[in-house]
Amino acid sequence: MRHRIAVVGGGPAGLTFARVLHRHGHSVTVLERDPTPAARPPGGTLDLHEGTGQLALDKAGLLAEFQELARPEGQAMRILDTDGTVLRDWRPRPGDRAHPEIDRGQLRDLLLGPLDVRWGRGVTQVVPGTRDGALIHFADGRQEAFDLVVGADGAWSRVRPAVSPVRPHYTGVTSVETSVDDIDTRHPDLARLVGDGSVAVYGVNRNLVAQRNSGGHVKVYATLRAPLDWHTELDLTDVEAVRSSLLALFDGWAAPVLDLLRHGTAFASRPLHVLSVSPTWPHVPGVTLLGDAAHLMPPLGVGANLAMLDGAELAESLAVGPEDLDKTVRAFEERMWARAARWATIATAGLERLVSPDPAQALALFDEVQPS
Ligand SMILES: Cc1cc2nc3c(=O)[nH]c(=O)nc-3n(C[C@H](O)[C@H](O)[C@H](O)COP(=O)(O)OP(=O)(O)OC[C@H]3O[C@@H](n4cnc5c(N)ncnc54)[C@H](O)[C@@H]3O)c2cc1C
Repeated sequence: MRHRIAVVGGGPAGLTFARVLHRHGHSVTVLERDPTPAARPPGGTLDLHEGTGQLALDKAGLLAEFQELARPEGQAMRILDTDGTVLRDWRPRPGDRAHPEIDRGQLRDLLLGPLDVRWGRGVTQVVPGTRDGALIHFADGRQEAFDLVVGADGAWSRVRPAVSPVRPHYTGVTSVETSVDDIDTRHPDLARLVGDGSVAVYGVNRNLVAQRNSGGHVKVYATLRAPLDWHTELDLTDVEAVRSSLLALFDGWAAPVLDLLRHGTAFASRPLHVLSVSPTWPHVPGVTLLGDAAHLMPPLGVGANLAMLDGAELAESLAVGPEDLDKTVRAFEERMWARAARWATIATAGLERLVSPDPAQALALFDEVQPS
């Protein structure tokens, strides 16, 4: 393939795209805003599904390495009532590899492998249709042209305006993230509560979910319906103030459950934004989008999986398909839009049930999706 291709963003979508092209012997320029791979914490754990995330890794030739790193036991899921009663305690059967967990940092390192990422290359804008192709503008004032620019730069994509004026909107739901380190040795009771995988507690319009990562690290998400400015009175860097505020918001919940907040270290507020459930745009030659940049949806365990499959499929089509770049990208977009619309509808309905005035909705959703 003779085309000059750049992907903006070194997240799950961008790296999978680059890695599949690399596997097929094609070069691609990977542009990432972070100055180094260690510039910020990589985030929590991801479960990669057989038909999407794992399929993408297979296309990248990385499935066996993933299986070495992944935690099948991390699929375990326990659901408690707010008074601490165990309502469900689901564990995977031996050999169940439907959606094992992997730390985001491990996944990123696996995908990075031999890729030559240009770190510290924040993109500010992409101008399609110039004489030399699609022109990327960088934060440092430089510019570079490519035949195809793939925007895999997440929720607040700087590539998206080249194809569509839409911007994410707030769902009315915010997750406050914290973590507990070294849980097995420092907080053995909490470690038992979380188990090998996740524990979730659903109350009225709020929930608490804790997920085990590798190395005794547990991420905790306190999720609630709240206005975007719910914390204006609060200094989010004041750990004790945020903790007290959350404990008040979850007042009356069982003490062992609230210990997840009591032992949390720093807190970060993550308002959940989404794009429309049917994210399409009039095709623009020379520019396309993948992953969250294309179809940001509520976190229901599919976003990274879809992002990776997008990346793998586009890369594979470009590598083995016809030389007509535009035709290949158009066909890919049609496929991606249809798949994303299906999942965005499911994820949107799912969020309504997981953060619902009727907590029984969350339990019913679990029973619908989890094999008994
Ligand atoms: C709380 C929470 C929990 C989640 N849990 C799950 C889960 O369990 N399973 C799952 O499948 N999904 C989950 N998701 C969704 C998942 O995180 C996203 O769908 C996924 O990360 C999207 O991947 P991406 O590569 O499209 O974008 P991102 O992961 O956002 O990566 C974008 C990359 O682009 C870079 N970038 C951004 N702007 C620029 C720029 N201007 N120039 C250059 N580079 C730039 C960023 O630094 C980043 O590296 C969760 C989301 C949230 C909020």
